[in-house]
Amino acid sequence: MKTIKVNIVTPDGPAYEDNIEMVSVRAESGELGILPGHIPTVAPLKIAAVRLKKDGETELVAVSGGIVEVRPDHVTILAQTAETSEEIDKQRALEAKRRAEERLKKHSPDVDIMRAELALRRAINRLEITK
Ligand code: ATP
Repeated sequence: MKTIKVNIVTPDGPAYEDNIEMVSVRAESGELGILPGHIPTVAPLKIAAVRLKKDGETELVAVSGGIVEVRPDHVTILAQTAETSEEIDKQRALEAKRRAEERLKKHSPDVDIMRAELALRRAINRLEITK
């Protein structure tokens, strides 16, 4: 089976590297399925799971935004944060979700709504991956 090299990089350094049969990412424009030999492209990503298929198994990596660069033999994802399901601290994500929900409920002018919504999305994304 043909594979494509995948690197996920954050400001903290490399987060993931492997040769994968198929990669799916959630781009701003929709789901993008990438097989070896894909045409070169660049796309901004949503806060979502990257799905990495190898040997009949699918591994999930939670990424917070960023961009994907696709070349026929290489996929590079540059993201603000990236965690595999084993790396996610479920309790921390639950607390982040609770804090964001409380901020959004307050309707206070002191609350930065966009910031709270993004924090909520990051927390929900992490929780979905730990399920
Ligand atoms: P928190 O409020 O808990 O920090 P956050 O969504 O604001 O959550 P980020 O700014 O997205 O956190 O991430 C900061 C760093 O902490 C990154 O390195 C990220 O990978 C890590 N991180 C955040 N939440 C978790 C989690 N639940 N489990 C593991 N690592 C996490």
